[in-house]
Amino acid sequence: MRLILLGPPGAGKGTQASAIVEKYGIPHISTGDIFRYNIKEGTELGKKAKSYMDKGLLVPDEVVVEIVEDRLKKDDCKDGFLLDGFPRTVVQAEALDEVLKNMDISLDKVINIEVDKEILVGRAVGRRICKNCGATFHIKHNPSTKGDICDKCGGELYQRDDDNEETVTKRIQVYLDQTAPLIEYYNKQDKLVTIDGDKEINKVFKDIVVSLGSDL
Ligand code: ADP
Ligand code: ADP
Ligand code: ZN
Repeated sequence: MRLILLGPPGAGKGTQASAIVEKYGIPHISTGDIFRYNIKEGTELGKKAKSYMDKGLLVPDEVVVEIVEDRLKKDDCKDGFLLDGFPRTVVQAEALDEVLKNMDISLDKVINIEVDKEILVGRAVGRRICKNCGATFHIKHNPSTKGDICDKCGGELYQRDDDNEETVTKRIQVYLDQTAPLIEYYNKQDKLVTIDGDKEINKVFKDIVVSLGSDL
């Protein structure tokens, strides 16, 4: 299965991605996670990405496309992959089409998770992530049973630097301006499935599985 997860910040892409990659046995490629890893490691890429991420802006297309192209050529992607948070602009989508064409493969589906704008800020501001295993929680909607400790691995939970109200609001605007046009882009390719993301986490997952034509 070769899939893309599309949706605004806080829609639930990362949360659904964990369940999807487990079910289908494909690698999860999150460009946001790749940047955060590089920031933590203090690499040149991390320094460059951080200057954009802190402002809620997109990292330049050419930087992102190169990273994804290298990743898709790795052996573990040969039977499928899930792209989460990429592409985010029409330029990135066109570059991805070109990369896939050169690899002689094509996308199966683009899963568009829809959530009303009013809900998104609360989702992102309440998000907490495990420092150790990367699991995502929400202080109200999906809390760890151990408070600010991860109940999957015992790691410490933290809040992303860009998950404050001001930056999230900016990111939602950037999504509407630069990423939302991809809905029409993939609709034209007949790849789009739209999922209501304003339901309980497990229900959203079931809807995704059904939309992919798989058994639950
Ligand atoms: P994205 O990757 O699209 O930015 P996340 O998967 O990180 O979104 O989810 C954002 C926040 O909302 C997280 O704190 C997550 O636990 C929570 N969340 C995800 N899906 C739902 C849902 N269906 N209902 C309520 N909260 C959710
Ligand atoms: P969210 O799902 O909450 O929007 P991500 O973890 O996907 O967050 O992305 C965090 C930030 O990383 C973005 O605001 C942006 O600065 C950068 N980023 C991630 N993916 C891309 C991409 N495909 N193109 C440009 N910037 C990106
Ligand atoms: Zn953990």
